Amino acid sequence: VPSRENVPEYQQLREEVESRIGRINGKYATLHNSPIHFIHGTVDFPELCALYAQADVAIVTPLIDGMNLVAKEYIACQKDDPGVLILSEFAGAAEELFNALIVNPYDPPSVAQAIEQALAMSPGERAERMTPMRKRVMKYDAQWWAKTFIEDLSAINLQAEAKQSFHEKQEQLAEVISRGGRVGLFLDYDGTLREIQREPDQARPNAAVRELLEKLAACPEMDVAIISGRKAKDLDAWFGEYPFGLIAEHGAAMRLPGEKKWRQMDQGVSYAWKDEIHKLLQQFEEQTPGSFVEDKPTSLVWHYRKSDPEFGEHKAKLLAGELVVLAANEPVVIRHGDKIVEIVPAQISKGAAVQRIVESEHYDLVICAGDDQTDESMFRLEHDPLITIKVGDGDTLAKVRLSSPAEFRRFLEGALASRCESRHEPSPA
Ligand SMILES: [Mg+2]
Repeated sequence: VPSRENVPEYQQLREEVESRIGRINGKYATLHNSPIHFIHGTVDFPELCALYAQADVAIVTPLIDGMNLVAKEYIACQKDDPGVLILSEFAGAAEELFNALIVNPYDPPSVAQAIEQALAMSPGERAERMTPMRKRVMKYDAQWWAKTFIEDLSAINLQAEAKQSFHEKQEQLAEVISRGGRVGLFLDYDGTLREIQREPDQARPNAAVRELLEKLAACPEMDVAIISGRKAKDLDAWFGEYPFGLIAEHGAAMRLPGEKKWRQMDQGVSYAWKDEIHKLLQQFEEQTPGSFVEDKPTSLVWHYRKSDPEFGEHKAKLLAGELVVLAANEPVVIRHGDKIVEIVPAQISKGAAVQRIVESEHYDLVICAGDDQTDESMFRLEHDPLITIKVGDGDTLAKVRLSSPAEFRRFLEGALASRCESRHEPSPA
């Protein structure tokens, strides 16, 4: 079906397809038959359905695709004497059309093999593969998708409500500060204080972040802890000069304010699961251009922020699914964070680390802020009063949602305002 005809790439592709078809037909056609019928035009709906219903095999092999509806249309038409669907693993639909013959389009011999397998398949097996897929396609139809989509949208808090809670909580914090109350401030870094960067190393504190940190450091009765998935070494290099508590690797290591030494918090934790899971992550690294595995002392992380966003997200979901099975009997937690999938010991969490600190201190107010799934454990903290802040999209237990790190910094700046004058010289970049 002609589409986007003014895009040069599409024109080139069409020319390539036409010339190749010409070559194949020139070589194999006889007076009575030619192997390829190429239709470049719109086929009306009843005729299209008839062609789908008649086809023995449908081959849908995109190199990348969000969903792919052609595959689903073909399935919808396979009522009696069904055909076989050959589907690229890079089509979004491959995730739910589990009974198709799944192929990698970058591997032509395997695609050829799948075509042979499809043509030779018995009617029994064809029906066995097609029936459950067709059931699924007919059940989760366009109406179903639209309905669930609208339901999700209506579940989101209204903008006005969000604005109100922003000012309400900001005032609550300002009030505690101005009457000299003690505040425990537990802040995630990447995606919360600082915008996510393509290269993790580029996320070092910039001027806007440093200015805020100076103000926080100057604020009396303000206990600040930076709590991150990063290694202790990173946090030391970036925040070592500030009088803050530092919590690295999601709570596995902790450095109290004013101390130079890190304390390991993971004594007695088993890491026997690491080898096997590392192998699986390496497979995903190989299959997903731009992604890489990070082996931290207390966790394994698969990063995909440099991969194609849609494809990376797709592979991350697959990985998370495979990990749930592989690690079912291991004492680990699998977290699908912002552009990462991470495996950490179940005993270690940001929430547990914060809990330990909060129990030994007396705060008039505790604030926890974070942007991804690893921060949710902090939002379960039991303390009164407690302000929990989620930065960005996604499900959360937090009571306040702010749209971006910039908005979060505005939130803190506004509450600190003139009450905390900076007494520190800005530290070098
Ligand atoms: Mg974060």
